[in-house]
Amino acid sequence: MTDFFLMYFREGNEPEETTQITYRELLVQVCRCSNVLQKQGIQKGDRVAIYMPMIPELVVAMLACARLGALHSIVFAGFSAESLCERILDSSCSLLITTDAFYRGEKLVNLKELADEALDKCREKGFQVRCCIVVKHLGRAELGTGDSPSQSPPIKRPCPDVQVSLVLKNKCHCTDRGVDLWWHELMQEAEDECEPEWCDAEDPLFILYTSGSTGKPKGVVHTVGGYMLYVATTFKYVFDFHAEDVFWCTADIGWITGHSYVTYGPLANGATSVLFEGIPTYPDVSRLWSIVDKYKVTKFYTAPTAIRLLMKFGDEPVTRHSRASLQVLGTVGEPINPEAWLWYHQVVGAQRCSIVDTFWQTETGGHMLTPLPGATPMKPGSATFPFFGVAPAILNESGEELEGEAEGYLVFKQPWPGIMRTVYGNHERFEATYFKKFPGYYVTGDGCRRDQDGYYWITGRIDDMLNVSGHLLSTAEVESALVEHEAIAEAAVVGHPHPVKGECLYCFVTLCDGYTFSPTLTEELKKQIREKIGPIATPDYIQNAPGLPKTRSGKIMRRVLRKIAQNDHDLGDTSTVADPTVICQLFNHRCLTIQ
Ligand code: AMP
Repeated sequence: MTDFFLMYFREGNEPEETTQITYRELLVQVCRCSNVLQKQGIQKGDRVAIYMPMIPELVVAMLACARLGALHSIVFAGFSAESLCERILDSSCSLLITTDAFYRGEKLVNLKELADEALDKCREKGFQVRCCIVVKHLGRAELGTGDSPSQSPPIKRPCPDVQVSLVLKNKCHCTDRGVDLWWHELMQEAEDECEPEWCDAEDPLFILYTSGSTGKPKGVVHTVGGYMLYVATTFKYVFDFHAEDVFWCTADIGWITGHSYVTYGPLANGATSVLFEGIPTYPDVSRLWSIVDKYKVTKFYTAPTAIRLLMKFGDEPVTRHSRASLQVLGTVGEPINPEAWLWYHQVVGAQRCSIVDTFWQTETGGHMLTPLPGATPMKPGSATFPFFGVAPAILNESGEELEGEAEGYLVFKQPWPGIMRTVYGNHERFEATYFKKFPGYYVTGDGCRRDQDGYYWITGRIDDMLNVSGHLLSTAEVESALVEHEAIAEAAVVGHPHPVKGECLYCFVTLCDGYTFSPTLTEELKKQIREKIGPIATPDYIQNAPGLPKTRSGKIMRRVLRKIAQNDHDLGDTSTVADPTVICQLFNHRCLTIQ
């Protein structure tokens, strides 16, 4: 039935790079890829790391793993070599699938170079992947269209000084880094059919890493049955899915939103969606709306940070396009401020579309609090009510459930099919992180308010996590990247309001003796963070901090630092600060902050 049905409208980084992929074509590619992986020794239960941009081969690779019962561990292509290495090691992945290079807007990302660096780091730590399969993406033109595995057309923007697409550094079986193999060569030789491996509903489907408050990312494990059921159901009801819809989720598959609502949710419903490789501002700021018109998108799903970014350019880039096909507009990733919500509703949706503000997490697999379009009366900025079967509660510090109008910790009282099952290789950490603070409840780590009408309003993280452009980062992760610099003795990172990102990083650094604070040092620190974590973690502010406000037991008082970052002298109770003179000093040093 779905054989000839369109699975994806693929839109590349350049508007002319378009292709269509049917369910039938996808199945053949997935079977071939499963055969390729099997030939490389991949079996049920093995872990496969995937580090790729938003191209069809990414979907093929993840589904091929699923077909074999192997766990894919997708690492967002914006992460650094170090982050990739850490994730490969944590789940001892047998194999890496990556891409030569790609463009994000005008920026060239030499992905294979980063992948090589990661594999070198793994080897230094005594671990070697069996092989590295490389999709020729930027170098696709050399293949000719016929050979192109997903019928993607040649890239229109080749870069002459990039050699990665032409050469595989390790194309021999005797290098110490392992073996590099071209995807298209392996796929050409592979059979079109592959029996799926039968899995139990509770078998793991994939691992996806999310920041942990200790700084070490957690490998969130989702299962075959529960996760698939949950994403299929939430997709159907939250987007009011109908067969004639064209769905578009702008999230990268490297994040959970992409896993659930670019790949698994739409696929399980036989939906037609858009797979977009580019960015909202390239070649111009009306790109999203031109794609909406091009494919007659009916249901559109994006993040508040993208909405705020586009709002800055005014209404005309939006209204220049018809957008008549749009029916439902979704948002996810962070609290949406009412101003952005209203612009989304009034300008993008021309006041005719429902907005679904969906609250959920990597750990929950799918939507938890969300309106149902056309059925739930909306309030700008509220994720409204729980999805079917979800039982939220708001607790106070002592763990008592609060009734009626209340504010406190958001928890869930009963499990749902898509709940993560464990932290890969560390079940104790799973129990400690989510179930220890309030026994008997799943703790989200978010604060929440319930109003007099019973609507839920997420107030933001209440742990040491930061939400930058909808992506969670732990303060500990950034602090440890900072203190690895020889000039830094101690660091403390807090969130700071940002008009587009929602929140940005504000870092306080205490220098080692003999070092001076300078623009060169702050640049070095930013570079270090980009290399250790990735560009998303680049701080907006770094401030020299001769001392940090601490409690007598030595705990850094982030609440005070957040106030200092905002130049807000209303500090509340500071009686527990061990050395109050530090606070004055930091306020005085604010003017030395270098952006
Ligand atoms: P992640 O696991 O990276 O997807 O991040 C999950 C976190 O993003 C949640 O714990 C919230 O802090 C935040 N978040 C996601 N969706 C929403 C939303 N609709 N409203 C408010 N916060 C959200």
